Amino acid sequence: MGNTCYFGSTIQNLVQTFLLTEELYLSLSKQLHLDIELPLTKAYLGFLSRGYEANCDQTFQLVFNEFCKKSSRFADRGQHNSHDLFVYFMNCLRDEERRRRGSVNSTGFLNELTVVDKVFGGHTITVYVCTSCKTPYHVCESFLDISIPILGPVDGGEDENEDLFNNNLHVSDTERQSIQYAVDRADAMRQAVEYTMRPLGDRSLLQKRSPMLESLGEISLEQCLLYYSKIGQIHNEYLCSRCDAEGRPPMTSALKRTLIYNPPAVLVLHLKRFKQTTVGFKKCNQHVTYDEYLDIGPYCSSNSLRNSEPNDVNVWYSLYGVVVHKGSLTSGRYVSYIKVRDCDTRQTKQFMQQFFLNRDQVLNCDDDITRRNASRLIQTHRKEWKPPEVKGQWFLADDEYIKAVDKTEALSQAAYLLFYERVAKSRHQYLENTLLQVLLNDIDVD
Ligand SMILES: [Zn+2]
Repeated sequence: MGNTCYFGSTIQNLVQTFLLTEELYLSLSKQLHLDIELPLTKAYLGFLSRGYEANCDQTFQLVFNEFCKKSSRFADRGQHNSHDLFVYFMNCLRDEERRRRGSVNSTGFLNELTVVDKVFGGHTITVYVCTSCKTPYHVCESFLDISIPILGPVDGGEDENEDLFNNNLHVSDTERQSIQYAVDRADAMRQAVEYTMRPLGDRSLLQKRSPMLESLGEISLEQCLLYYSKIGQIHNEYLCSRCDAEGRPPMTSALKRTLIYNPPAVLVLHLKRFKQTTVGFKKCNQHVTYDEYLDIGPYCSSNSLRNSEPNDVNVWYSLYGVVVHKGSLTSGRYVSYIKVRDCDTRQTKQFMQQFFLNRDQVLNCDDDITRRNASRLIQTHRKEWKPPEVKGQWFLADDEYIKAVDKTEALSQAAYLLFYERVAKSRHQYLENTLLQVLLNDIDVD
């Protein structure tokens, strides 16, 4: 089949995304325009129903052929990037579903979530605060995966990131005061903005860990995520409409922070190993450590939509797939590690996206927060919890074979893509928390 390891490695991970499979079947049974064909969706489900032993299987070939018909850039049978593949494959599935619904050309189709959006879709929120007039502005953007910068040397190149990392990982006092100032002079709306810019989880524990890891020359996924969600500065390149309206120079400086606003049911993290430079692409081989369980609370907004109890500060995910790029840029190949779990999607289902979120809808949420009195929510009853164990067996899937491996092997790779699924509290934890909440509410009534 040629160089299709980029394809096989990503498909192996999609196969383990049980929620995707279930929702695709469900959606097929509900669709209206049955005369419109779904060649890729059907080939993919056909491949799943046959079971998969090795990638050279005929049904796998069929999926690949249907995909190439839709995405001509992959039809050359050459080597491609597995992250690009993920993005294109998802777009093709989404496109087929929209066509079948007959809503491609109507103005309303954006308001309908497709299976792909329900399973992988999430939102980030980016807040800007003009340092001159302190006026906040925010943008809410959807994603199917999050691209995370890797901190460390590009192989053979200069390490331009390290200083940025050391200087900007911690929020400086000046930055804190600046944000605080926006709140002090402000009305409830500004309080809501400050609340939105504040991470949900506690980052201090992570920051304490970093010097040790740095001395080992290791970087953790958490550090990369902290870098992704840190407060950044825009120097004299921020167009402030208020400063402009009030006759001041419109180009100002601003503070900027991006946090996760709407965590998805399945979180795909793309570690940016391939970097465009002036002389073409370079691969970054920096080892990034990652754990089987990931709490994204420290990178979520305090104002995030969590589908969980309002005082929870942890947003737990469990790893079930890793795509690894081995070798160099010119002679590399992809393999994947997958964790086969029990096929029970009931708990993950509650985290699926329920409705289309438009970028202005966050404003309404801010109003809600204002009514609920944000400061009270921030300070009282913050509840930490640990995820229950997700049992399963790890496998290495190469183009030619699949074999059982030890968990430690799966967790020590130079990962390129990481597939995490949301973890719900165990029934025991829910009960415990509910009882605690009843007690705390009783204490409050005084
Ligand atoms: Zn301004």
